[in-house]
Amino acid sequence: MGSRTGSGRGTLATLPLVTLHIDVNRDACMGSGNCQFWAPGVFEIDDDGIAVVVDAAAAPEDKIVLAADGCPTKAITLTRD
Ligand code: SF4
Repeated sequence: MGSRTGSGRGTLATLPLVTLHIDVNRDACMGSGNCQFWAPGVFEIDDDGIAVVVDAAAAPEDKIVLAADGCPTKAITLTRD
């Protein structure tokens, strides 16, 4: 399997003037894959077994919120500005 591209960070423009930032704390992530289940296409598990953000716009915001709430280690932080 080739290495995946992505990072622990992504940005989704939701409403005009409102942007959702997604951060994955790589030290806290245990690679459970829950986020990939709730928001497929947004998160993937990289070759190190840690979640990365590959496309912040791949799922609706409510699914991303579910992914963050469902993370067993609370490794996902969502911020809006
Ligand atoms: S749900 Fe949390 S612990 Fe599980 S892979 Fe995603 S970020 Fe990591």
